[in-house]
Amino acid sequence: MEEKNLSPETKILHAPYPARDAYGALNMPVYHAVAYEFETAAQMERAFTGRSPEHVYSRVSNPTVQYFENRVKAFTGAADAIAFNSGMAAIANTFVAIAHAGANIVTSPHLFGNTYSLIAFTLKDFGVEPRFCDLTDLAAVEKNIDKNTCAVFLEVITNPQMEVADLRALSERCRKHGIPLVADTTVVPFSAFHAAGFGVDIEIVSSTKYISGGATSLGGLTLDYASCDWQHSPKLRSLVGQPAVSAFSCKIRREIHRNLGACMTPEVAALQTTGLETLAVRYERAARTCRALAEKVQPLAGVCSVNYPALPGHPFHAVSQRQFGDYAGAMFTFDVASREAAFRFIDRLQLIRRATNLFDNKTLAIHPASTIFGTFTEELRQSMDVSQNTIRISVGLEDTEDLYNDFKQALG
Ligand SMILES: *Cc1c(COP(=O)(O)O)cnc(C)c1O
Repeated sequence: MEEKNLSPETKILHAPYPARDAYGALNMPVYHAVAYEFETAAQMERAFTGRSPEHVYSRVSNPTVQYFENRVKAFTGAADAIAFNSGMAAIANTFVAIAHAGANIVTSPHLFGNTYSLIAFTLKDFGVEPRFCDLTDLAAVEKNIDKNTCAVFLEVITNPQMEVADLRALSERCRKHGIPLVADTTVVPFSAFHAAGFGVDIEIVSSTKYISGGATSLGGLTLDYASCDWQHSPKLRSLVGQPAVSAFSCKIRREIHRNLGACMTPEVAALQTTGLETLAVRYERAARTCRALAEKVQPLAGVCSVNYPALPGHPFHAVSQRQFGDYAGAMFTFDVASREAAFRFIDRLQLIRRATNLFDNKTLAIHPASTIFGTFTEELRQSMDVSQNTIRISVGLEDTEDLYNDFKQALG
């Protein structure tokens, strides 16, 4: 069968090894190796200067990690996929590759806590200006973009606010200005959402979440769809035309990734390769349960409101439907009357686990304001629309009725 005719679900299971395994192992072996041996000095020179594809040192590349990256490429159609040791490393490496002192990043204040902190504080100290605005307001976006903007960055469904920006509209603005649209798509896996189809140039995923296959390991991915014209980037312009899939890929792979050293380990790549094989089926089940549970708990006494963009009546329902279909990830939030009521609900849970993390196989509950955003000032939390009354639920693979019953008793 011709590989190009296969569906992504099939391709992800059968991506070929770059070389036949000595023992014909059906799973890619875990190459616990730091360095790789060569026959001659000339071969070493070719490998070290990038003129032949051999691995030289595992911080730079490793066969097991590369195999994981190749499977992700086969699934997504990305021109390049680079694996990191966490989602935060993928985000940080991506920004270090595209931003420079004097540049600005146009983004929303509705971000994952550490991503907010990275942009607002860490990168700012290096002279990269954060420009927070409402990304669902195109006039505001347009007003914030100028000649020093190096990217528009967003999370495709923010949490806990559950805001969904119109990717195609943002992409149009980005193309017009010659800047990349960079999206953290962690909440809707690429098995269900094709980011490049909506104009995303660079996709970032915390593979710790769905891909790891049940909270087995930390990991991150940066996917480059080679759709951005880097001619307009003062930093990457000189790399356009290099023998690489893009100027960005050239910069991040050959310089940033190896200099910062946040490489994925082969053990994690092996775990997450197995996770990829069941990604689509796990997500389908978790997302279906999430939607059903969000609908079922809405009328319960004590639940003031439920926030899940796939539900009719949600302020971002139409754009969510267009981008993600009938399911908007396997996470929803709901509000209760007060912070005390939120703590009481969480304390009473018997089946749902009290933990952070998203998209474990087990359902998890957390009070974002006192945990993920617990060290932020109340003023900052309010500017990010993180309410003391909100509880976040990451839905796993349990039976819907069992989860519903735990909700009922915890509210009771
Ligand atoms: C978890 C998460 C991250 C960070 O990923 P890590 O693997 O924990 O570093 C970034 N963005 C979003 C949306 C996340 O949920």
